[in-house]
Amino acid sequence: MENWKYYEELKPDELEEAISKNPIAYWPLGLIEHHGWHLPIGFDGIKAKEFCKRLAKKNGGLILPTMWWGGGGGHDVFKWTHYQDLTATKNILETTSRQILDYGIKILILFAGHYPWQKLLDDVVAPLKHDYPQTLILAGTEISICEYDSELTGDHAAKEETSWGLSLFPNRIDLSQLNRKTNINVWPPQGPPTRDIQHPKVNYDPTSPLFAQMGEDARSATAEHGNKVINLVVEKLTQKIQLFSQNNFDHSNNRTD
Ligand SMILES: [Zn+2]
Repeated sequence: MENWKYYEELKPDELEEAISKNPIAYWPLGLIEHHGWHLPIGFDGIKAKEFCKRLAKKNGGLILPTMWWGGGGGHDVFKWTHYQDLTATKNILETTSRQILDYGIKILILFAGHYPWQKLLDDVVAPLKHDYPQTLILAGTEISICEYDSELTGDHAAKEETSWGLSLFPNRIDLSQLNRKTNINVWPPQGPPTRDIQHPKVNYDPTSPLFAQMGEDARSATAEHGNKVINLVVEKLTQKIQLFSQNNFDHSNNRTD
C-alpha cells in the first residue's frame, strides 16, 4: 500500500491518523501559461505535482491540491496565459501554509515549478519559519529548494523543463509539435508584444519551433537528462527530510510533542 495520499481525498479521521504517523506535506505550486508548442499550458503545476509524487513515494506524507493560480514572469503577452494579481497568490500561499502547520504538519515542502516565484516564496516563508520554529519548511524550485545549486539550470519550455516533462509525464509532451508552423494567428487580442517589452531571451516568432521558449533548444531534451536532475533533487530533499524526522519525531509512538 502507498504510504502517501492526496490531502483532499481523505476524511477527517484519516487525516488525523496520517498526520500523526507522518506529518509531512508537499504542495505543488504552478500556474497556467504558454509553454511552447510541445508542452501543456499547465506544465509548471503538473511538473511540480509529479515531482512531489516522486518525493512522497520515498518519504510518505500528504500531497496538497496543486496551486494553479499565480503570476509573475514575462509570458502574460502570450495567449493561454492566466496571470493573477500576486497579492492574491501570496495570501493563498500564506493562509494555507499556516492552516496546515496549525493542523500538525511538521515538514512542509513548497515546490514551485515556476522560477519567478522565488521572491514570493521567500517573502511568505520567512515569517512562517519565525512563527513555527519546530518545523522544517523548504520552499523553492529545483535549483533553490535545498541550497542554490549552480549545476542546475532553469529555463522556460526549453531543454531543462522539457527533459523534466519527458521524465515525469512523457504522454503529455509532444516533441513532434516543434516543427515550423504556418498558422501564426496565436496572439491574444492585444496582439504581439512590441519590441521594447520583449524579453531578450524569449522567442516571439510563432513560426519558429522555439516559440515562447527561453533557454537551450527543447529539441535537445531527453528523459535521461530529466531523470538525472530529478533524482539528484529527490535525493537531496530526502536527506533533509530524513534528518529532520530522525531528530524531531519520536518513533516509539510516531508522534511529535
Ligand atoms: Zn515552466
